[in-house]
Amino acid sequence: MPLLEVKNLKTYYYTLRGVVKAVDDVSFTLEKGEVLGLAGESGCGKSTVAWSLLGMPPSPGRIAGGHIYLHDDEAGETYDIANMAEEELRSKVRWRKISMVFQGAMNALTPVHRVGDQIAEPLILHAGMTKEEAMNRVVELLNMVGLDDTIAMRYPHELSGGQKQRVVIAMALALDPDIVIADEPTTALDVVVQAQILNLMKELQWKKKRSIILITHDLSIIAELADKVAIMYAGKIVEIGPSSEIFNNPQHPYTQLLLKAIPRLRGPIDKLAYIPGTPPDLMSPPPGCRFYPRCPYAMDVCMREEPEMVEVGKDHYVACWLHSKR
Ligand code: SF4
Repeated sequence: MPLLEVKNLKTYYYTLRGVVKAVDDVSFTLEKGEVLGLAGESGCGKSTVAWSLLGMPPSPGRIAGGHIYLHDDEAGETYDIANMAEEELRSKVRWRKISMVFQGAMNALTPVHRVGDQIAEPLILHAGMTKEEAMNRVVELLNMVGLDDTIAMRYPHELSGGQKQRVVIAMALALDPDIVIADEPTTALDVVVQAQILNLMKELQWKKKRSIILITHDLSIIAELADKVAIMYAGKIVEIGPSSEIFNNPQHPYTQLLLKAIPRLRGPIDKLAYIPGTPPDLMSPPPGCRFYPRCPYAMDVCMREEPEMVEVGKDHYVACWLHSKR
């Protein structure tokens, strides 16, 4: 049984202008110890998936359908996050089983509180620790992410970008969750610090057999860490499979174009590809395949009917009429 099973998830934003179908029928699984990379251009629904997994899509968003099954080995129970009461989510799932490394460390930290107090807060509130027990755990967590104890007494503005990002990772690990979602964890960091943070995440995942969902628009980061990759376009997963398959044998035209847009240091210097056009308005997405206005292989059927996911290799699935039977 997978640790997490997302089935036909729909998360919509109910705005005054209409309903934005940000995540529209998304399904995937995550095994214990697996790193899943969720990639796609900005606005494709990656972050909405992340927030939905915590049962808290940003307002005016709501989970409109589907299931998010989380298997809790310790309790011997399976929860459906998509259909759980808020109180139960807070006491059983959020931060304890699934936590999140937020996008942009500075936004995740409160400037007026010391770092140690901020890491201690969920330990006191959610794990019922005393202040002293919480501070001992704070030191343990800081050391785990490669920071020394004195950082606990500092304010966020006294830390470098890399140190702040480590603190945010320590916060996400506070209650020892089974799954950590990292949303653009290295955005705004220079390449050296970026590499350090990725190494840290690899180490933390490997030591505890923790599962990670890594969300980024940067496929080179996913190539470093992920076992499995899901490519999202306009609120849907269009291709999913083992990392080696996605990077060496991509089957969806969108994936192929995304990969061509990664700069390479080795090999012949090619002109970087770009994907002409923009993703559709998710308030009124086109019928059929949502990629057809930008797809170099678009056919008549693509404009009329939505392609279903088909298996094109071991555990490798793609939604494209080039592979589906008509
Ligand atoms: Fe292109 Fe058609 Fe495949 Fe969509 S279904 S990606 S439009 S070939």
